[in-house]
Amino acid sequence: MYSHRMRERLLKLRQELEALAAAGAQSAAVVELDQSKVGRLSRMDALQAQAMAQASVQRREAMLRNIDAALQRIDDGDYGLCCDCGDPIDPRRLDFDPTVPRCIDCASKSER
Ligand SMILES: [Zn+2]
Repeated sequence: MYSHRMRERLLKLRQELEALAAAGAQSAAVVELDQSKVGRLSRMDALQAQAMAQASVQRREAMLRNIDAALQRIDDGDYGLCCDCGDPIDPRRLDFDPTVPRCIDCASKSER
């Protein structure tokens, strides 16, 4: 079934993100170690690296929220329907990103 296949895809995406999060936590620890070794001049670099790491953590958390919301919609039986207008979302759009909650019309409206 369609939503069953999508659930599998979403769960797989979720696993990949969690693996990335574990790897990211390790590299953040490396930045901290470097910071204690290097001098004051490299502090800016370290801070910049930290900001980038934080941004990617935030992106990942937003994606996880989207995945959970999509899984919830599968459970509720309204997966694949636009959360604004209720019309079916183009399957090609869902295939590209299984977490999209809106049809192309509503998504372009909300971006404006
Ligand atoms: Zn819509």
